[in-house]
Amino acid sequence: MTTTYLQAIEKASSYDAAELKKGIDALFRTLQIEKDLRPGMRVLLKPNLLGDYNTYFSVTTNPAVVAAVADWLSAHGITDVTVADSPGGSACRMPGFNFADFYENAGYSFLAQRGVRLNTDSGWRSVPAPKGCVLKDYNILNVIADADYIINMPKLKTHNKTVISFGVKNLFGCVPDIQKPAFHARYPRIADFANMLVELAMTVKPALTVIDAVEIMEHNGPVAGEKRQLGMLFAAKDVFSQDAFLAQLLGVDEEKTDLLRIARGKGLVRAAQVMSGTFKPNETVAPLKLPDIFTVNSLPEKVVSLLHMAADKAGELLFTQTPCINNKACARCLRCLHSCPAGAIADNGSSLEIDTRKCIHCLCCSEVCTHRAIRIKTEIKKRRKPT
Ligand code: SF4
Ligand code: SF4
Repeated sequence: MTTTYLQAIEKASSYDAAELKKGIDALFRTLQIEKDLRPGMRVLLKPNLLGDYNTYFSVTTNPAVVAAVADWLSAHGITDVTVADSPGGSACRMPGFNFADFYENAGYSFLAQRGVRLNTDSGWRSVPAPKGCVLKDYNILNVIADADYIINMPKLKTHNKTVISFGVKNLFGCVPDIQKPAFHARYPRIADFANMLVELAMTVKPALTVIDAVEIMEHNGPVAGEKRQLGMLFAAKDVFSQDAFLAQLLGVDEEKTDLLRIARGKGLVRAAQVMSGTFKPNETVAPLKLPDIFTVNSLPEKVVSLLHMAADKAGELLFTQTPCINNKACARCLRCLHSCPAGAIADNGSSLEIDTRKCIHCLCCSEVCTHRAIRIKTEIKKRRKPT
């Protein structure tokens, strides 16, 4: 492996189609993507489609960026293009779910008129992970496992479990929706979950990662955070190194993100050779506001961060993240109740209640709540009395 990788950056001040086209053209020219492709290839675009959120909230990859990539592919002779993701919280199994409404609500339907296939197949198969220490194989959506060329297309966000949600975290959506909560239950320690995510990304091996950072989400992402205009597009063929580069650019302490610490520990992070027509080498950006994961009672952030690390090293789970429903903001759609794998949410007629004894802290309920009525609180783990 060479010691550097190519990091392409272009500015895009809005989701205007002409501006995005210019940006994607420049990114792909820098990375010489044309050389990687051949006629007849099945290309898979993997955006962040955590739910059918209105694009206004900046939760999902903006469909205009997906359209710009699809148009570039079409202009370069690639006609077999599919968009696929597993929404959060077993959304596909909820009563009344249908993909046509899902894509319509998420603003993706128009892509079908441009010849892009919008995946409706939840079938999956096991893919070997030869270098896996956590698992020796991963269950991955068929449409992703069968693709010849995977373009990973995350939205740049913060995440209340993994701190950042860039390229590596976005690939968790390759796992079938119904199986995702089981991973949260199996790996409650963030370091174990992050290790699994790194190995999953090594298994999926995206050929390219194009990041929608025109509008990003910071603070309490991935759903209830704050939208911020960053005005940038990023692309690289090395998903691990790009995540590390972005963290550095956005002032995220690598020690706070198990994903980066583990990827670096496995020797997966290289130095960036930045190439850009619009971003100057000495330009800086304001730091990313991180989630309240490091806010526990009145303890200083530095102390919580050190306790997190010490507990992880000792294999302990010191903190848990507990969802809290704001019944005033709740629209009583019952999506959270139907997607809770532990049956921990009850409808008592006038409000919804979470039974904290049953909760496995998977956070699926907060991911499916398009009304953003569920907040996550980090707490010191209570010891359960033996029964
Ligand atoms: S908390 Fe959110 S997902 Fe649950 S019922 Fe209310 S609006 Fe729906
Ligand atoms: S209530 Fe707990 S177990 Fe149920 S979806 Fe929410 S976090 Fe997961």
